Amino acid sequence: MTIAREQIRELADFEDATPCAVSFYFQPSTPRNKAHKEDTILIKDLAREALRALESRTGEKEKRESTRSDIERILRLSGNLRSNGSHAKAIFACAAQNVWREYDLPPTLPGTQLFVDRRFHLKPIAHLLGAFPKLGVVLIDRQRARIFDLRLGELTERECLVQPLSRRGRSDGYAGYEGGRAQRRVDDEARQHYKTVAALLKESLEKGVFEKWILGCQDVHRSQFEPQLPPYVGQALLGHFNADLQHITRDEIRTRAQQIVEQWQSDRRRGIVDLVLSQARSHGRGVTGLRRVLRALEMGEVQTLLFGEAFQAHAVQCTNCGHIDAHIVNYCPVCGRPTQEVVDVGEAILPRVIRGDIETFYVKDDSEFDKVGNVAALLRFRAEGTQPVSAFEMSRAVEYPGRLRRFAS
Ligand SMILES: [Zn+2]
Repeated sequence: MTIAREQIRELADFEDATPCAVSFYFQPSTPRNKAHKEDTILIKDLAREALRALESRTGEKEKRESTRSDIERILRLSGNLRSNGSHAKAIFACAAQNVWREYDLPPTLPGTQLFVDRRFHLKPIAHLLGAFPKLGVVLIDRQRARIFDLRLGELTERECLVQPLSRRGRSDGYAGYEGGRAQRRVDDEARQHYKTVAALLKESLEKGVFEKWILGCQDVHRSQFEPQLPPYVGQALLGHFNADLQHITRDEIRTRAQQIVEQWQSDRRRGIVDLVLSQARSHGRGVTGLRRVLRALEMGEVQTLLFGEAFQAHAVQCTNCGHIDAHIVNYCPVCGRPTQEVVDVGEAILPRVIRGDIETFYVKDDSEFDKVGNVAALLRFRAEGTQPVSAFEMSRAVEYPGRLRRFAS
């Protein structure tokens, strides 16, 4: 099954006093013909390494045994991972707490990895989900409409509408007065059909079934359909591709839609990076650098979080209150209890980010972003010395990243 936000939240809430949370990510290697064997060898190596690390731990014999059983179960599965086609896979397991979850993912993970820790390792998932809207894909012609969900690379058909042909339909021919009337009726019916689909889309957006959508149709239909869209529905349209509803395959639909989403995401990421950096420079709603970002997170100020793709930094986390500090201190500055070192602060803050539904972007190869420390946040508000940014400005930046500079300067 495909992972949903609610399940990720549940995984983010998991914690154990001992490292018994096993997270396994499988990314199929290419080319496919010889890859199966290599994949299996890699998984065996990872498992062996994890088991060795497990052996070196002392105490908690029972927990170690249950972790061993999880790793061995993953190992047994490794032979079948290829059977679900070109999907990647994530497994989260903790036998001690009765957790075993398997999910299919689009094959865009950074690699095959295995982690044993006190929490599940969720960065690869956060990466995938990063600002991924609930997406509808609509295919339409004069008589039919097919509506799909696109979620993490998975295309699911939600609805299929077919307008019944009028009784006299096309058999009338198109000659003369009768023909003209028949043509008008066919046009009316098509218009009605477009209106029905537009209304259905409006409802889906209002109910939150979709947040954005993509249109696939032939140009001639697009020019008739788009004028029927209420403004609100039109604004949620990310883009369109040319498609003949009768002949297009599922794979083609998914690929074309995916390309549009990726372009939109990359424009949007660019827009948000620009906005955050300019807001940080003017001491507005942007902060940069780990220390400030951590503080803003704890204050509940963060709306959107930006990480450099390779960002990694040490920090400490309080064993009592969960406070995360960029200074490596032995005792928590908030409650005075001992702290624990965290190797990857980007991973350690994810539970909070996921729970708070904070939009997260991973930024790749951006020298300006690199200069400010590869971590930044856009704030909903600033607790001290509030300097509000209008909702209008924000929505402009997000929807039309290209126009951002005008507002940002
Ligand atoms: Zn504390």
